[in-house]
Amino acid sequence: MPHASSRLDLLVAPCDPERLAGEPEARWWSSAVDAGWWSADGALGPARDAVVLGGFARARLEVHPGGRLVANGQGGVATRCPGCGAGLARELGVAVRRWQAGDGREVTCPRCGRVEPAERLDLRPPATLARVWVGLADVADGRLSDAAADSLQALWGAIIVVPRRVG
Ligand SMILES: [Zn+2]
Repeated sequence: MPHASSRLDLLVAPCDPERLAGEPEARWWSSAVDAGWWSADGALGPARDAVVLGGFARARLEVHPGGRLVANGQGGVATRCPGCGAGLARELGVAVRRWQAGDGREVTCPRCGRVEPAERLDLRPPATLARVWVGLADVADGRLSDAAADSLQALWGAIIVVPRRVG
């Protein structure tokens, strides 16, 4: 539940967990600076409503080649087996650590044996595995603009927006 002392960040990640940051991301960042979305250091630019209505405090291109679970800052991530409905939160955690260690990210249901890649599971609240994402800190509104979504989809294909409540 939102409350006055907390801050909302939006984390926008490619749906492909293996996507790595490179030259296209650097060009995309520069084009956003040119469009006035933010300055080179990520501070809100003159086009203050272009990315999120009412703006944000700071944008960052988050680069984590080792991979992270991109999730809400509060509480854990719940998920269920799409086959039998068993809770798989613990197995998801194991899969994320295995993936970060350089191995596969499949989650195996201990009840029915079904195997799914972690990113195909329905994670609640919304979360994903990623090696690169855009972080918008302290947004004034919880929705990404169509222009920003279109721009990131042109860069990454399918994207996921993960709201993160901080504090
Ligand atoms: Zn199952």
